[in-house]
Amino acid sequence: MTRSGCIGVVPIGAIPHVVTQVIAAHITGYLNLKATVLKPLRNPLYALDERRLQFDAGTILETLESRPFERVDKIIGVLNVDLFLPIFTHVFGEARQHGRVALVSLARLAEEPSEKPQLSPTTLERVAKVALHELGHLYGLTHCENDPCLMHFSGSLEELDRTPLNLCRYCTRYFRDETGGPDHFSEAP
Ligand SMILES: [Zn+2]
Ligand SMILES: [Zn+2]
Repeated sequence: MTRSGCIGVVPIGAIPHVVTQVIAAHITGYLNLKATVLKPLRNPLYALDERRLQFDAGTILETLESRPFERVDKIIGVLNVDLFLPIFTHVFGEARQHGRVALVSLARLAEEPSEKPQLSPTTLERVAKVALHELGHLYGLTHCENDPCLMHFSGSLEELDRTPLNLCRYCTRYFRDETGGPDHFSEAP
């Protein structure tokens, strides 16, 4: 159960403003939680794995978990670096169940991978979808077998594009309980 239900969206590195704005708008529009864009942080060079030339998502999560972020309940860190977990070649995002911090990276979500991500409507929808999915984990949701549901696991861009932005009925009920019940959920943002 959360107090204010406010989510902080934190750009990490040079993230175009539109990306964090779109994520915040989707958090409010689809999950009915307040969202605010916080001051940017530097690129997480401390998490670079020099052999893989990728960034360790677990190390970034731990570092952000140890930082005080005031007046927000949960944090979504938005990056444009290639993230990995030891057991996966790459991940679109990462969160621990019931954790405080989630990550989403633009690095593998663009239609044409390049140094500067192409911010097409498809890319923006993907980044919002991964952010909302990871936020679901922060509120205790696990992967959902229901297809279509936001909490369905996506291992590829094709699967991600088939996944809706909405939670299924079962996940919606769980999420409402976790975020303070139907009264809070039906409140105007
Ligand atoms: Zn997941
Ligand atoms: Zn579901």
